Amino acid sequence: MAVPAARIVFGPQDRAAVADAVTEILTSGALTLGPYTERFESSFAAAHRAPHAVAVSSGTAALEIALRIVGVSGRDVVVPANTFYATAAAVIHAGGRPVFADVSASTFALSAAGLKAALTPSTAAVVLVHIGGLITPETDELRRLCDEQGIALIEDAAHAHGCTYDGRFAGSFGQVGAFSFYPTKVTTSGEGGMLLTSSEQFRDEARLYRDQGKGSFSANHHVRHGSAWRLSELNAAVGEVHLRHLEDFVEARRRVARTYTAELAGLDGLRPLTEPEKCRGNFYKYIALLPHGVDRTRFKTAVAESGVRLSGEVYDLPLHHQPVLTEYADGPLPVAEDVCARHVCLPIHSDMHDDEVDQVLTAVSAAYAAVAG
Ligand SMILES: *Cc1c(COP(=O)(O)O)cnc(C)c1O
Repeated sequence: MAVPAARIVFGPQDRAAVADAVTEILTSGALTLGPYTERFESSFAAAHRAPHAVAVSSGTAALEIALRIVGVSGRDVVVPANTFYATAAAVIHAGGRPVFADVSASTFALSAAGLKAALTPSTAAVVLVHIGGLITPETDELRRLCDEQGIALIEDAAHAHGCTYDGRFAGSFGQVGAFSFYPTKVTTSGEGGMLLTSSEQFRDEARLYRDQGKGSFSANHHVRHGSAWRLSELNAAVGEVHLRHLEDFVEARRRVARTYTAELAGLDGLRPLTEPEKCRGNFYKYIALLPHGVDRTRFKTAVAESGVRLSGEVYDLPLHHQPVLTEYADGPLPVAEDVCARHVCLPIHSDMHDDEVDQVLTAVSAAYAAVAG
């Protein structure tokens, strides 16, 4: 049996719960901004001990709304170089200019040194991305740097459902946290996103933005440049059902990660990213760095020959090398370039079986011996 790169887990009970919800939604005719969305929001907020949650149509929309609320138009926004395209695209869509920053090789996250080097007199905001569901121990220092300069801190928590640092949840470290429910994420709603905030004012602003900037649901007075960023009730129902499993999914992923880390310790030179002290990650991705000089493509091909599909990198090409973003590139970012080029992601699923874990370890060890040995 092959081990796929990712697996989306909806058991028979979940499918039945979604089917019941769909019947109820279609019967009621309340297809958007209704009770399922409200339930999804309150469950997601509760799962992250957040005071407020606003559901939207995607993680990208959540980021753009967050950036529009704090106001980045015509200003610079610091973004790590090794993140998904959408992090930078949201900045551009909100009228800002992404400034790419270097990161820490041990967490793949923005470092205080990287942030300091990227600050300009025009910096309005910083986006911290919790790559792979790891939360950097520099988070509090990053927040302090931002606060000192009156700069907003936004979290791109698309990878970080249920992650904590020092007992505090992703989404609580900056002014707003933006989550995604794209199918591959730790929990999904098909498509969807969520903003978490402790600010009532930000919650109200996010509600305006997601519904075309309308001053009220019934009136046609537009008071913000919003868009069609609502989440449908159908997607909210899927998201709420999936969210019920968040703790189990995170535990299952952490169990797989513990086995991987213990077993890979014998492969000299292959370095898995491990959780920083006080961080409880969700292992959205299980990341390992290949030694310098090992050909990643050859390694991946060798693993695939054993029927194991490695999952996608996070990310293989840094943003300052992306064709559509070159106008924002400003010199080399050596750590980001190095980690983007050198890491692999082992498959990790929320329902991974022990025999799959064994199969991955066997395939990875054999490929490593063949390519790096
Ligand atoms: C998935 C993802 C997004 C975008 O989420 P969508 O729901 O697909 O819009 C943004 N940032 C990161 C880091 C992501 O992984």
